[in-house]
Amino acid sequence: MPYKIYNEEEGTCLQCGTTIRGRRDKQFCSLSCKNAFHNGVLMTKRQQRAKIVATLTGNYHILEALLKEGKTGAGLDELFELGFDPAYVTEHRRGKFRHDEYACFDIWYFRTDTRIFNVRRIVSVPR
Ligand SMILES: [Zn+2]
Repeated sequence: MPYKIYNEEEGTCLQCGTTIRGRRDKQFCSLSCKNAFHNGVLMTKRQQRAKIVATLTGNYHILEALLKEGKTGAGLDELFELGFDPAYVTEHRRGKFRHDEYACFDIWYFRTDTRIFNVRRIVSVPR
């Protein structure tokens, strides 16, 4: 029967690589492999999210320290040494004039290729 032949193709378990027989769309050899695979996907997503939050938190502490020192700007080289990563921002606005504006939560700043300036806290009221 063509139907049966179609349904009995071999596949490979996405988790352990074992050859599996059965339905063509079967992806796992067992329920435990299926669970392990999906737990791994969730773990990876969780770790990526935690890394982004940690980087933003690090940037925020660096910007906050500048403000506490009464500074409104700093060279990017100096900031890189402190661990600042300008790729991580929570908001971005195209510059009305020359420079784009970035935010790390409630702290905003302008950025050039070599420095940030006009660092300030803007507290917006949540809608
Ligand atoms: Zn498996």
